[in-house]
Amino acid sequence: MPSFHCGSAVELENHKTAYIKDKIGEGGQGTVYLVELEGRNFALKWYHRKINNGDKFYRNLAYNIDFGSPSELFVWPKYLSLKIGDEYGYVMDLVPERYKCFSDFLLTKEKFSSISVVINAALNITNAFRELHRKGFSYQDLNDGNFFIDPNTGDVLICDTDNVAPYGDSLGIAGKARYMAPEVVRGIKAPDVMTDRFSLAVILFRLLFLDHPLEGRRTLCPCMTEELEQKFYGKYPLFIYDPLDNTNIPVRGVHCNVIRIWPLYPQFVRDMFIRAFSQPCLKREAARPTDNEWQILFTRLRDCVVTCPCGGETFLDLDSEESECVNCGMKIPRPPLLYTKKYRVALFPGTKLYKCHTREETDNYNCVTGAVIRSQNRPGVWGLKNLSGDVWTVKTRSGESVEVPSGKVMVIVKTDSIDFGNCVGKVEANRKN
Ligand SMILES: [Zn+2]
Repeated sequence: MPSFHCGSAVELENHKTAYIKDKIGEGGQGTVYLVELEGRNFALKWYHRKINNGDKFYRNLAYNIDFGSPSELFVWPKYLSLKIGDEYGYVMDLVPERYKCFSDFLLTKEKFSSISVVINAALNITNAFRELHRKGFSYQDLNDGNFFIDPNTGDVLICDTDNVAPYGDSLGIAGKARYMAPEVVRGIKAPDVMTDRFSLAVILFRLLFLDHPLEGRRTLCPCMTEELEQKFYGKYPLFIYDPLDNTNIPVRGVHCNVIRIWPLYPQFVRDMFIRAFSQPCLKREAARPTDNEWQILFTRLRDCVVTCPCGGETFLDLDSEESECVNCGMKIPRPPLLYTKKYRVALFPGTKLYKCHTREETDNYNCVTGAVIRSQNRPGVWGLKNLSGDVWTVKTRSGESVEVPSGKVMVIVKTDSIDFGNCVGKVEANRKN
């Protein structure tokens, strides 16, 4: 191992030089340094020793750098170093301070500021993996140490992307126990896109419920041996809320988070996790929910989150006349609903519309195109502000057509139709309207 110290020069493949400024951290695979490159700070990961598949690993890194990041959410390798003996490293961007490691959320050292933040993080993670898989890569080593999340916005950065490889390529990394698909734990399959699907479901479950989907009564044991790990995560995994087998249910005083949070989420969310960890999905990879299904689920979930007058966020059951706030118990009558071809959105002050709601050809979930606001003079009157840049055409119940240019507000009442430009929706009012 070369002895780097402050000021040491590391030659890169692109003929540039990075200068070591400080040591940031040390992990199983390597050491991470703060480096300066052309006046900017970056991180340099330097591998400890000759790792398995040394040259294959190096070539894979070079391929990934050449290909470019599949999504801006990945902290992707930027430049390879020249080799020093058998050793090498690569330069990547630094993770800004506002992002906190997902492991710290699971240890409750960090806390999400609201339900929408959790949902945004879920959408970001799901979308990043969808893009990764669409571009022909698999991640292979998903675990809680890879994700960095802003607790106030749900913005996500995904690190440790050096194990990412094109389909069919395995770098000999099995993944971290508790996140690996059962067939990988059993050693009958190398990680790939299908095993990523399992790991993604574990990450999403832990993000929402802060406990582990396979850890309940059955897995409580004084000492976790390799044999037991094989049993609980490989040969006989069992979901803690398996509707057909309750022998692994969460235990009071141990699995407190999931016991408290699980019942708060709408049934359609619980159903998806019940499916993702059902015996068929644990055993047969083809049955596992796809990245796209998760993205649709979380978009749908966000569409029914509102801010209660108590200040906390809650879920509305859009099929029922009223819902109870998960924070204060207040009954909230169903607000007017916007129906589009694919979505149904609760129109409640604070709700936002996104491009996926107002443009048919896209599932963009983070570009805001509208917002529900309260009238300043008459708080009982709610309006939908057009923030889309397009002109909306509203057809009222009397058959009249009204144009709502971008920046203007339409009063939320029952309408025959709203033409958003290339997507048509309509508002169904609640009983009071
Ligand atoms: Zn409330």
